[in-house]
Amino acid sequence: MPSIRCTVDNCHYWHQGNTCNASEILVTSDSFGQTAADSVDAPQAANLNTTPVNTCLDTCCKTFVTKGSGQIRADGVTRNPL
Ligand code: SF4
Repeated sequence: MPSIRCTVDNCHYWHQGNTCNASEILVTSDSFGQTAADSVDAPQAANLNTTPVNTCLDTCCKTFVTKGSGQIRADGVTRNPL
């Protein structure tokens, strides 16, 4: 998996040096991200419809989950061992 850099340090998967430590992530359109259930994430990506957008401002990381949130296990994404 390519290295993913991220500055969203209140995410459960964020790690020092602005690194994403998730096993996989789902980048999608804002409109899909706002309407899909928390359980829909990277593990289901192969079966999702594509979601074209116009600019980077229309995309989001669907895998984001707030540190300490009760939703950490909602989607099957895990943290890579350090
Ligand atoms: S899951 Fe998304 S928001 Fe969270 S650290 Fe990784 S890239 Fe950033």
